[in-house]
Amino acid sequence: MSKKILIVEDEKNIVDILSFNLSREGYDTLEAYDGAAGLKLALEEHPDLILLDLMLPKMNGFDVCKAVREQDSSTPIIMLTAREGESDKVFGLEVGADDYITKPFSMRELLARVKANIRRTELVSAQPSAPAESGGTRLERGRILIDENLLMAFKDGKALDLTQREYELLKFLAASPEQVFSREVLMERVWNYEGFVGDVRAVDVAVRRLREKIEDDPASPEFIMTRRGLGYLFRAG
Ligand code: CA
Repeated sequence: MSKKILIVEDEKNIVDILSFNLSREGYDTLEAYDGAAGLKLALEEHPDLILLDLMLPKMNGFDVCKAVREQDSSTPIIMLTAREGESDKVFGLEVGADDYITKPFSMRELLARVKANIRRTELVSAQPSAPAESGGTRLERGRILIDENLLMAFKDGKALDLTQREYELLKFLAASPEQVFSREVLMERVWNYEGFVGDVRAVDVAVRRLREKIEDDPASPEFIMTRRGLGYLFRAG
């Protein structure tokens, strides 16, 4: 079945070129030209991925993203931002976007990211079908427990409210405790960006958000440690 991509963008020429190229790649597309219409389609049509412009009539991209994430933690959202402002990009990630692309973007790069994000959700949704009795589906790391059948993580027995990406990042790091992973490697392995050489700040933001949810004191983490200049590691308790 074709994957469905929702484009929320008020510039018609951009919508047209996106929709043309995505259709040519075999995706179905839905289009919304303002934030409110985009949110409605996002919640009603359950797209497989959302391309979300930042500056939109009626409701901006940040607010759309936040509202989508309140009900849906897993659909990949890629923000399209015309702004050069660094804070906008980071804020987009803070409110739950998976990634952003700065306009003007190359269609090749955009299609690569769409593919990577859709492949990631496919990999994840394929996992729960593994037989529960096969074992090795629970990862216990001290106070943290990761249940790969439930796709959930627990701390001290209490379920953590993680987005899909945060869950995957935690699972990836916890699977190899005490091993340092660079941002580039995490981008490739957790974000599925093969040969990723661009902006790796999405990793830092995801780590910060994850720490806010799993650490007793995010300012002095005890689970997810930073090795300055090298990357991140999960401490084996
Ligand atoms: Ca716009």
